[in-house]
Amino acid sequence: MSKDIFVFAEQRDGKLQNVSYELIGEAASLAQDLGQKVVAVLLGDKVKQYGDELIKFGADEVIVVEAPILKEYMTEPYAKALTAVIRDRNPEIFLIGATSIGRDLAPRISARIKTGLTADCTALCIDPDTKLLMMTRPAFGGNLMAIIRCKDHRPQMATVRPGVMQPMEKDLSRTGKVERFQVKFDDRDINIEILEIVKKTKTAADITAAKCLVSGGRGIGNKEYFGELRELAELLDGEISSSRAAVDAGWMDKERQVGQTGKTVRPELYLACGISGAIQHVAGMENSNTVIAINKSETAPIFGVSDLGIVGDLRAIIPRLKEAVKKA
Ligand code: FAD
Repeated sequence: MSKDIFVFAEQRDGKLQNVSYELIGEAASLAQDLGQKVVAVLLGDKVKQYGDELIKFGADEVIVVEAPILKEYMTEPYAKALTAVIRDRNPEIFLIGATSIGRDLAPRISARIKTGLTADCTALCIDPDTKLLMMTRPAFGGNLMAIIRCKDHRPQMATVRPGVMQPMEKDLSRTGKVERFQVKFDDRDINIEILEIVKKTKTAADITAAKCLVSGGRGIGNKEYFGELRELAELLDGEISSSRAAVDAGWMDKERQVGQTGKTVRPELYLACGISGAIQHVAGMENSNTVIAINKSETAPIFGVSDLGIVGDLRAIIPRLKEAVKKA
């Protein structure tokens, strides 16, 4: 039985998704505890050339399954290919990004190979005594964090939220084996026909990539005040984001929501304005490098995860902050 840690390296249109690098980084740190290899599994048509990139970001080995049928994501062929790789190589752990593709794929694979699946994990570690993977995921609406172990079945399988794990620095000196794995496909593997692919037009900036986020909550009072926050964000070379309350009120696009049912962000600076700091919000921003909170209530939970707290009315504080940044 192999004890290696396998990671599904998701690509779309030949572009490796960030979550692939994040999972390889996490797998590399887990592999240190287990003393085993990190193996990335890449599926697609003519994608072998991306294998080296995965090695430079921390994979020890890359398994590539190439076929025209894998050019665009389709559930059946992708599930068949990954199931075949797992049956052949018997990994100890298999990690998949909790993206729309990963969420579709992972349960089908776990059912086929008869193992458990912990979905939407936000933390992973190896138990030093049992060497089992401890998979943490929010439960009961984020009110508690459940730690789940898979005792008897292999591989131990998890989908992991994008944006939560840290990728490794690219290391140009790293080398490793990139090998092809053959899977035979036939007509029975195609049970859907793709008629047209409509690409989503980019309407908003990607808040997960922003170095600075000025985030507004219900406490900003109305939609218009996001204009003030946007000006401050621009001065700081950042983006605006929000709590769910602001999204539910129709003040902000859902794409900019931070938290358990929004995005997980990790900027250099997260400025929380009029956000109480509910556990579901904190789950999406607690790994930010520096958190500054402005809130008129000194007991607001957001101060518990802040490096710097300003108690007061944000409508008096934001204009002064803008002036100070302009002068700096
Ligand atoms: P509030 O909790 O109403 O806080 C407003 C804050 O503004 C208060 O602390 C107040 O003191 C302060 N304030 C008011 N006026 C001023 C002023 N003039 N100056 C300074 N401070 C002021 N929430 C998320 O954000 N993201 C999620 O992904 C998310 N997912 C959820 C998933 C589930 C299953 C559930 C049940 C809830 C989820 N929530 C999420 C909602 C979450 O529980 C909170 O309701 C929400 O985060 C509250 O948003 P808020 O902090 O903007 O508003």
